[in-house]
Amino acid sequence: MQKWPIGVFTSIDAGLGVHLDVVEELKVPTVQIHAPHKETRNQAAADEFLAKCKAAGVEVTAVFGGFEGESYASIAETARTVGLVPEATRRERVQEMKEISDFAKMLGCDVVALHIGFVTEDKQSSDYQNLVEVTRDLLDHVAANGQRLHLETGQETADHLLEFIQDVGRNNLFINFDPANMILYGTGDPIEALKKVGHLVKSVHCKDGKWAPEAERGTGWGQEVALGEGDVGMETYLRTLKEVGYDGPLTIEREIPQDRERQKADVGSAVKLLEELRAKVV
Ligand code: MG
Repeated sequence: MQKWPIGVFTSIDAGLGVHLDVVEELKVPTVQIHAPHKETRNQAAADEFLAKCKAAGVEVTAVFGGFEGESYASIAETARTVGLVPEATRRERVQEMKEISDFAKMLGCDVVALHIGFVTEDKQSSDYQNLVEVTRDLLDHVAANGQRLHLETGQETADHLLEFIQDVGRNNLFINFDPANMILYGTGDPIEALKKVGHLVKSVHCKDGKWAPEAERGTGWGQEVALGEGDVGMETYLRTLKEVGYDGPLTIEREIPQDRERQKADVGSAVKLLEELRAKVV
């Protein structure tokens, strides 16, 4: 595969990504996909999707898990509902994530990924200890499928994410770096964060965002915007990816499924921008 192939975050039947026809039209060679609903996580559905990918010349580079009941309505709601962190649903979501790993295997994909949620900073708490344990259990299942697990950035600072990964202590746990999330959640400067965690970054999102006003940072959302129009600084982002030795896909994410036309137009512009910057930076 060429260095930094363009990718797009794509949905089969769940999640915020673009649909495969858009990927095909834009001639993008790779996708990360949001895992489909439970009923369509079977070999027949995998074969059908793979056939479409093959016809479109598209490779699936990661399968993202997501769960019923998750809400990104506010940062507080996200903390309460997202990922493996909420204790009431932790056990069932770990089980579901294992099933998503099995589905990814049916797709021949060796990477699964997720938002783990807001990991508590109280490392002595039983909540933290249990989260470490269930993550190990999940990683062992993922390893048996010949896969890695990538944690999406944003809900933790770079330092806290590194500590958690170190405490889990498994060799198939890595990072999907999303620079915009660092801004949207107010968890730190994305470029500084990337320099800190770069050695563990095995996949990335190319997404842009604007900081919330300073007084609201960390409690109120920043704003996700079209690539190149936010505060990430795409050229600096690519230069830093080069510096940390990343050469995997550049997967565009544009999270406005309520406006499919604009989503498609923005992804199209993002492809052009990344192709230009890649030629300049690579
Ligand atoms: Mg992302």
